[in-house]
Amino acid sequence: MHAMLTSSPFKPLLYCSSLLSSSKARVFSSSPLLPLMPAYYSSVPDVRHVVEAVAGKPSSQYSLSSSTDRVILQKPSKSRVVAYGRRSLLSELQELREEKDVAGPLEYETPLNVVLYPDPRLRAKNKRISVFDENLEKFAKDMFEVMYKTDGVGLSAPQVGVNVQLMVFNPEGEKGKGEEIVLINPRIFKYSNKRSLFTEGCLSFPGIEADVERPVSVKIDAQDIKGKKFNIHLKGFQARIFQHEYDHLQSTLFFERMTPDVLETIIPALEQLEREYQQRTGLPSPEKVKSKA
Ligand SMILES: [Zn+2]
Repeated sequence: MHAMLTSSPFKPLLYCSSLLSSSKARVFSSSPLLPLMPAYYSSVPDVRHVVEAVAGKPSSQYSLSSSTDRVILQKPSKSRVVAYGRRSLLSELQELREEKDVAGPLEYETPLNVVLYPDPRLRAKNKRISVFDENLEKFAKDMFEVMYKTDGVGLSAPQVGVNVQLMVFNPEGEKGKGEEIVLINPRIFKYSNKRSLFTEGCLSFPGIEADVERPVSVKIDAQDIKGKKFNIHLKGFQARIFQHEYDHLQSTLFFERMTPDVLETIIPALEQLEREYQQRTGLPSPEKVKSKA
């Protein structure tokens, strides 16, 4: 996440003064959380498919397609799905799910660079980390370096093109100051009812800042850089940064959390990033923002 903000009771941040002096109009209205992108729900075959697959269909009829992540097969005959199979089928499903979602040893190229919207790596699935080694520590360190260099306060692995469940943040946004936090495989298990509006920026959206409403605190569990599991209650600015980065790990981008009115104000800037992507890569933009107003 980029520096921000207008009305935080927390410590002032990088760029805070420039944001405060900005004459940009701000729209304050409440917004329901937006639904996640449909792709998240379709990435793992459902139980029915696995039941079908193990019920004796030839393998050609239930091959996993890596491009669509869909299981292609014929409708099963119910009589072929026998009760004794169900328990092992469920555990097979679990294994399939975990195998599919877990990253092996980390591989990445240096130097790390921040990828910009609409790079498809911001929408790719982020795998859970299972190998906690020196390479992972080095990666987290490198991410902090990129974050400080780009004046950020938080950064998620997909933003440097590595699709794993890791985020780093430091609310001070400055090397040698504040606390450096690394969260691996994080999950939110409780949101506060109280919500607040806050001006967010994102390193993958240079020059764009706008208001996003989110819960003021969250209870999470995660693993540290050594793989140790822990729970923590994040509040205030830490909760804000965490939720922004957590969204990245779910392939959700901050403009999807904006109200239609707020989104409207940044659509030209988003379209400009889409054009720049096309010019830079020679490829069509993998997504195009649509007005919700
Ligand atoms: Zn971001």
